[in-house]
Amino acid sequence: MSKLTVVDKFLLRGGQERDIILSMKKDVELWEKTLALLSENMDIREFATWIEHPLSFLRWNKGAGVLLLEVSTELAKDRISFKYAAAIEEAAQTVFGVSLSVRFLLPGERDTVKPPVIKDDDGGIIFNPVYTFDNFIVGPNNEFARKAAQAVATAPGKVNAYNPLFIYSAPGLGKTHLLNAIGSAILEKFPDLSVLCITAVQFTEDLVNASFKSKNTNAFKEFKEKYRSVDVLLIDDIQMISEREKTNEEVFHTYNTLYTSGKQMVFTSDRPPKDLLGVHDRLKDRLGEGLQVDIQVPSYETKMAILKQKAMLEGLSEDMEGLAEINSFIAENIKSNVRELVSAFNRVIAMAKLTDRPLTKAFARESLSDMIKFGAAGGLSPKDIKKVVAAHYEITVTDIDSNDRTRTFALPRQIAMYLCKELTDLSYPKIAALFNKDYSTVHHAVDKIRKNLGKDEQLKEVLDILTGKIQDEY
Ligand code: ADP
Ligand code: MG
Repeated sequence: MSKLTVVDKFLLRGGQERDIILSMKKDVELWEKTLALLSENMDIREFATWIEHPLSFLRWNKGAGVLLLEVSTELAKDRISFKYAAAIEEAAQTVFGVSLSVRFLLPGERDTVKPPVIKDDDGGIIFNPVYTFDNFIVGPNNEFARKAAQAVATAPGKVNAYNPLFIYSAPGLGKTHLLNAIGSAILEKFPDLSVLCITAVQFTEDLVNASFKSKNTNAFKEFKEKYRSVDVLLIDDIQMISEREKTNEEVFHTYNTLYTSGKQMVFTSDRPPKDLLGVHDRLKDRLGEGLQVDIQVPSYETKMAILKQKAMLEGLSEDMEGLAEINSFIAENIKSNVRELVSAFNRVIAMAKLTDRPLTKAFARESLSDMIKFGAAGGLSPKDIKKVVAAHYEITVTDIDSNDRTRTFALPRQIAMYLCKELTDLSYPKIAALFNKDYSTVHHAVDKIRKNLGKDEQLKEVLDILTGKIQDEY
């Protein structure tokens, strides 16, 4: 499995890159062994939720003794740093055979161990090499952004109308991916250009260090030179520059210097320039004076294409049993974030491998139960759930709503309550009201079913069937 295939397929260009890639390939293998070791000592679900699913290997910085891992969300980063960092470090040290520390980076966040220049002195790649144009799936939602990015990469700084290029969208829709793709493509085509790719947060930190913390009196001058002498400046998440006077000013002056000398700039952001908060008007005007493009939420077809590619990159065969089924399930249910889409896919595949279970829609649903609340937006109502459960047990909805405690009615009633809790966003009090019961009755029912699920295979099967029916019908 793994990201290795990505590398093989898309990046084997030139001897130097090949070397880097081969050593990275080995490192990824070590990381996979680390995962295997961790999984031996953890609960499967916990492992999938907090290790396998949110974490992915970025790089092993041998010089600094740091293992860089990407973590998918802020929440996961906090939780993992707090709870699992030591265990991860220990396992990694065992497998890598050296002493190292682990660092978690959010997508787009840069490693502070190395300077942020993409092409460093010895020619190493600092981009995330997984993000290329080749593996960016194009759909109506991102077509324009991708075209503009490609145009910029083909002739950086040459087309005034595209300078700066400003790409904005909601999270997880491919901004950082496109930004890295621009950087890689430019370096490939114009190896002599200097390309700097950095997040706004990193820029701010760099500035603070240069202005206040460094004992080196030339630090600020060096800072200015570093940013103002590049041929291409790529800044990710510019909305993060915050209200700091000094950062605003430095971005502004850097901008002006680069702009007047015809250097290409690309910015990404979660909103268009005019809506940036805490950014001075004069800088907002500049940021908006080139081409602004947005990325929208992908359609079902585009999501399917992304998942198909993902499966291919994982080395899975296209006609693998159940793959199409789980992909369409994921594409239907993960509405608006490609990062989550990909995470969901990774999770299902990882869980299937760990538990050795076949890929089915029911399995996907189960693996993703905490990511997907069915019917939350689609209008699935407790009434629908009651209907399906009643039909299955050949009783009526009135029986479910009644106070008759004989087992014929009590079990279906408890199952219906459990399904309402699991499949909708409704709170206990709301469910209680809809079943004409009090809060503690519902709570008790849900708890009981949850507990029994662990030991009662038959119950599990019934719930799988019912969930499947509800999902299909509503
Ligand atoms: P953003 O910076 O907008 O928050 P990212 O660029 O980090 O989003 O994208 C999130 C994840 O989704 C990344 O793994 C990225 O590779 C993937 N992704 C987003 N859009 C596409 C696409 N069109 N094709 C392939 N992968 C994509
Ligand atoms: Mg990003």
